[in-house]
Amino acid sequence: MFKRLLIANRGEIACRIMRTCRRLGIETVAVYSQADANSRHVAEADVAIPIGESSASDSYLRADRIMAAALSSGAQAIHPGYGFLSEKLELIDACETNRIVFVGPNRAAIAAMGSKIESKHMARAAGVLCVPGYDEEDQSPERLLKEAQQIGFPLLIKASAGGGGKGMRRVNVEAEFLPMLDMARREALASFGDDRVLLEKYIVNPRHLEVQLMGDRHGGLVHLFERECSIQRRFQKVIEEAPANHLSAEVAERLYESAMRMGRVMNYDNAGTVEFVLDADQGDQPYFLEVNTRLQVEHGVTEMITGIDLVELQLRSAYGEALSISQDTISRSGWAIECRLNAEEPEHDYRASLGTLLAYAEPQRMAGVRIDSGLHASSEVTPYYDSMVAKVIGFGANRAQATAHVQAGLKQLRIEGVLTNAALLLQILTHPAFEDVLTTRFLDQHFPDGPHIQESMRRQH
Ligand code: ADP
Ligand code: ADP
Ligand code: MG
Repeated sequence: MFKRLLIANRGEIACRIMRTCRRLGIETVAVYSQADANSRHVAEADVAIPIGESSASDSYLRADRIMAAALSSGAQAIHPGYGFLSEKLELIDACETNRIVFVGPNRAAIAAMGSKIESKHMARAAGVLCVPGYDEEDQSPERLLKEAQQIGFPLLIKASAGGGGKGMRRVNVEAEFLPMLDMARREALASFGDDRVLLEKYIVNPRHLEVQLMGDRHGGLVHLFERECSIQRRFQKVIEEAPANHLSAEVAERLYESAMRMGRVMNYDNAGTVEFVLDADQGDQPYFLEVNTRLQVEHGVTEMITGIDLVELQLRSAYGEALSISQDTISRSGWAIECRLNAEEPEHDYRASLGTLLAYAEPQRMAGVRIDSGLHASSEVTPYYDSMVAKVIGFGANRAQATAHVQAGLKQLRIEGVLTNAALLLQILTHPAFEDVLTTRFLDQHFPDGPHIQESMRRQH
């Protein structure tokens, strides 16, 4: 196994990766920006190396500086986490040049899946059903308008290079199409450096389900069942769970089968996720959405029901070991639910809540609760990065237990100095509709005036 690993990330995911490294006896190298000098991931690493100013483009997105840190610290491998450089070719190319192992899948898989257009072509070629729409090379407004009329409204304009819920626009009527196209293009160019778009029919009652894949460099490939991620705001996940509630065995099998087909055409060889939208109005008909060629934020719920450490498998695969598990030895039991804890004010349009922590305490050894956090008592929440600061996972023998445990975990986790969405998360978990089929419209439907947090609830957290 590797002796020393550099983690090219920050926050909870950097701390999560280090936890596995400590268990496996791998030394860790953290990198950090100026804003993160007092952060938890720096405190927990064996070695920490500054890589620049606070803005991500001057630090966590600088493959050259990360590579210099890897070389000077003697790291043999780099784990990219999620976001930042995890799905960019720049880092994997620098790794190859410098003979450092990139903990992720092969380059061709990252390259193909980085484009939603290309990934849909590959899915179709593999016999996987995609959301009906347009994803060809002709990007002229005339052609796109003609295709939009064919697809019908509402539809989504998606940036081919988009991600993280960014670069998507819903168009409700034809008259809005060309102005929205123009905006979407300009945004895509500014944010992702690529103005290609695709069009998709908008599924009106969508469920977001995804399948975890794990592969090795010897042709081994398995799936680790599904995750349900339908509770979202602005196309971003808020609560995830495994297994999915109200999912027929027949649709589940189709998801696994489609995900495995995608994995095989990509010669997939590390952790990855195949995402689908299901049309709740059409018997949960699944459509391929995209592949994320990295560890995902919500990987923990899969770990809790399978007993498998996905970061360990990532490291072993990257090191060249064959998978120690086969499809028929993987089983799942129980239920896990994850809440993303964001430093934000949901009742004020989710604006970020910034500041230095006054107090921070995690519940100690609570049964059925796992906390993956990037915070410690001296943390500062700055405006430079994502607002997600921690994840609270509840698990148990069934969904009711997992729900109770995640609620207890949220109530016990003490964060003072910044505001969080904890009260909203608790309102969602206790809402009667949380027991029904979940769709991505959940928050709009059940909190139509936006989340209003009662003062009594706020005071508790
Ligand atoms: P997951 O599917 O694991 O929940 P998300 O899509 O929410 O992942 O993204 C995880 C993180 O990566 C978020 O911080 C998100 O902002 C970031 N991210 C993912 N893809 C991109 C991208 N193409 N551009 C910018 N940020 C991205
Ligand atoms: P990203 O790369 O930003 O994660 P995705 O294509 O995975 O983009 O879509 C993100 C979310 O947007 C999905 O989880 C889903 O909620 C919504 N979405 C995407 N495509 C559709 C669609 N065709 N109809 C309805 N909702 C969609
Ligand atoms: Mg996605």
